[in-house]
Amino acid sequence: MSAMRFVSTRDPALSAGLVEAIEQGLAPDGGLYVPSEWPALSPYKLIGVALYAQHRQNARAAADGDARGDPRTWTSAHVLAGLAVSMLQPFAEGSRLAPHLAAIAAEALSFDAPLVPLDPEGRLSVLELFHGPTAAFKDFGARFLAASLARLRAAGDPPLGILVATSGDTGGAVAAAFHGRPGIEVAVLYPKGLVTPMQERQLTCWGGNVRSLAVRGTFDDCQRMVKEALLDRELREGRVLSSANSINLGRLLPQAVYYAAASLAIWRAHGEPASFVIPAGNLGNSLACIWARKLGLPIADIVLAHNANRAVPDFLRTGAWRPRPSVATLASAMDVGNPSNMERLRALFPDIDGLRGAVEADTVDDAHIRERIRSGFQRFGQIWCPHTATAAEVYERLPHERRGAGRWVIVATAHAAKFREIVEPLIGRPVPVPETLARLLERPVACTEIAPQLDALRSALA
Ligand SMILES: *Cc1c(COP(=O)(O)O)cnc(C)c1O
Repeated sequence: MSAMRFVSTRDPALSAGLVEAIEQGLAPDGGLYVPSEWPALSPYKLIGVALYAQHRQNARAAADGDARGDPRTWTSAHVLAGLAVSMLQPFAEGSRLAPHLAAIAAEALSFDAPLVPLDPEGRLSVLELFHGPTAAFKDFGARFLAASLARLRAAGDPPLGILVATSGDTGGAVAAAFHGRPGIEVAVLYPKGLVTPMQERQLTCWGGNVRSLAVRGTFDDCQRMVKEALLDRELREGRVLSSANSINLGRLLPQAVYYAAASLAIWRAHGEPASFVIPAGNLGNSLACIWARKLGLPIADIVLAHNANRAVPDFLRTGAWRPRPSVATLASAMDVGNPSNMERLRALFPDIDGLRGAVEADTVDDAHIRERIRSGFQRFGQIWCPHTATAAEVYERLPHERRGAGRWVIVATAHAAKFREIVEPLIGRPVPVPETLARLLERPVACTEIAPQLDALRSALA
């Protein structure tokens, strides 16, 4: 197979290899890169890859004197790294990243994504994607991107500037992944006052090669400023600029891996495909699941769970695409009025009926998010963040027969400790803070406040 090309969503004649696409972030015409073809992966082969990774993991555990093994190793870090190599190889083949793929996967996908069953029949599970350094699923993509970009740099290259707009979790994950990497400078833009105290700490506690910019505006302002900056001549002078937002392929592709691992685990255990309910904002996580299904993984239904920012559910209902300003909700990492990956979704399903056949979407208001956090704790002993609770609520609204017939997975995107101000009063007890988060809380913080204009960003970066 020859090297895979990635084409812009706006002009199929504009294409790039994997390395170029990752380094540029955004295509030069402002479009987003999508694969020009879809390799068919064999689930049977991937099952073999997963089994082999587990075998090696068990052998290692036995050698360490721990012979228990773990029956739930299907979504362990070892399996994720093994699957990543097999799944992403067709995309990397012939590129400068290909020889590094195994090392990148092992470095980036180094924590588990436990698939926790909530009922004895295994009809409903939660896929916990929050066991990375900043306790949100964005660690997977951010770490994969950082590990890739670090290996693409050569001695004497101009500095690489990474711009990232964040509604809360992206910035922390990206900062953690790039912090201390030589030759790479990171600027994190977040909406001042619209992130939780724990998130703000994660955005501002880095220093060194990471700059934190508190923008007097909304997330949409931050996102627009990054897009403008990437195309700005003045800012590009003397440095290479890229974006680490979920528009970057280097973040999207590795996210398909945990959907592969979870769906294979369910398929192997029950002989049935898995259906996912996914908390959705910019649609990066959702798109990765759609791509995993397109690659041949045993995935049935994909349901997008939005908060009160309901542009996508409204689009599926009416057929009219009306992006709008974002509104603030409890599930703040999904406060997106104009989801950037919509362009990729529409490129994949140009007609509305095709899209309706591929995904469903629902919208949940804050009152129902609160209620679901409460009942998730009462019924299952689960402590959900507001985003995960949004998905749990959308799952509960599915018809009874559909829930009983499927193998459903609620995707848990963040640890509840990041949203403890919201969660603790609802469950009536403190949320235990993971050790990695606790360590971040001890670091000193610093940020620069700027106006929501490209000019202000230019001066801040000068
Ligand atoms: C970013 C984020 C989301 C939304 O993911 P998208 O890929 O933007 O759709 C959901 N939950 C949490 C906790 C997040 O950080």
